[in-house]
Amino acid sequence: MKNKKIWLSSPHMGENEFKYVTQAFDLNWIAPVGPHLNDFEKNLSKISDNKYVAALGSGTSAIHLALILLDVERDDEVICSSFTFSASANPIIYQGAKPVFIDSEMDTWNMCPESLELAIIDRIENRIKPKAIIVVHLYGMPAKMNEIIEVASRYNIPIIEDAAEGLGSTYYNKPLGSLTEFGIYSFNGNKIITTSGGGALISSNEDSIKKAKFLATQARDHAPHYEHSQIGYNYRLSNVSAAIGLGQLEVLQDRVERRREIFEHYQKELSDINEISFVEEPDGFYSNRWLTTVLISANSKVSREDLRLNLELNNIESRPLWKPMHLQPIFSSCKYFGSNNAEYLFKYGLCLPSGSNMTENDIARIITNIKRSFEK
Ligand SMILES: *Cc1c(COP(=O)(O)O)cnc(C)c1O
Repeated sequence: MKNKKIWLSSPHMGENEFKYVTQAFDLNWIAPVGPHLNDFEKNLSKISDNKYVAALGSGTSAIHLALILLDVERDDEVICSSFTFSASANPIIYQGAKPVFIDSEMDTWNMCPESLELAIIDRIENRIKPKAIIVVHLYGMPAKMNEIIEVASRYNIPIIEDAAEGLGSTYYNKPLGSLTEFGIYSFNGNKIITTSGGGALISSNEDSIKKAKFLATQARDHAPHYEHSQIGYNYRLSNVSAAIGLGQLEVLQDRVERRREIFEHYQKELSDINEISFVEEPDGFYSNRWLTTVLISANSKVSREDLRLNLELNNIESRPLWKPMHLQPIFSSCKYFGSNNAEYLFKYGLCLPSGSNMTENDIARIITNIKRSFEK
């Protein structure tokens, strides 16, 4: 018989999600408004440095609204991390604007502040000052925000933090997503907590969040009939999904601790294999370790792909790191600044199963399989 499937990261419900969903049904708040949605925003605000919060249908819609609020329009340019999921960059295209991609640095694998500055200087020399910067905190690891914020403020360019993977992580004790003009979270099924599908936009600017909610509910002007002076979107989170989110927020800290424990477990157990390395947290950086990621050394006899296929044979899901955006066919004509760090990470990196609902047996099985793959 085949071993049970171990997933990369699957939903992990706590004790109270179902109770809140049942409440939503009992009250018949099956709509993109309702008491659970309000409470979810309130509780999310509490753990996000008391920012204003708009709960939305996805992290992608949160990035889209942030770009609209920053007046990103046709033919504008927006800077974005290259090493990320396509959802970080797609909303730039929704606005008819152009992404300019930036390489990673090798300490955190996130946006390189030096390449960022070179890009800004180049674009300003070409008379196209970038309208915004989308910085991604990949796999929950904070980007070098002090350096990035310093560069961005020198040129007066607003930052959107894509913390879709970074809920529960902190940077010098501040929650990711709360450090700049806008932050976004995702509650998709594979993220550290989930509402089955959902996201949020956060900001310290109350008017921006009010405007985001207005745009997210079809931009209805104040009138008894339906009156519209702007284009709107159907981007609000449903009250039922928010009810799931209420329960999930209660266990967020547990989930972070468990994922960090899983990372440490892998790191300890695999320390004898010289071909495998891990990314460390710099001082002041606290990662939720959403996914444990490893690099397989370039001269290893067992390649990243060998290892992935070995695990797959044993019904264990692992996945190459994100393929950089500047190497994606759809973005191949976009500008790119940096060298080949992101490319290197894609070539040699692997995400290991990291779900907080894995058992000790699951983890032992994965580790045994990895060790076996590297035995001569
Ligand atoms: C998941 C994710 C998104 C998009 O979030 P959705 O809720 O799936 O729309 C954006 N950026 C990154 C880095 C992500 O991992």
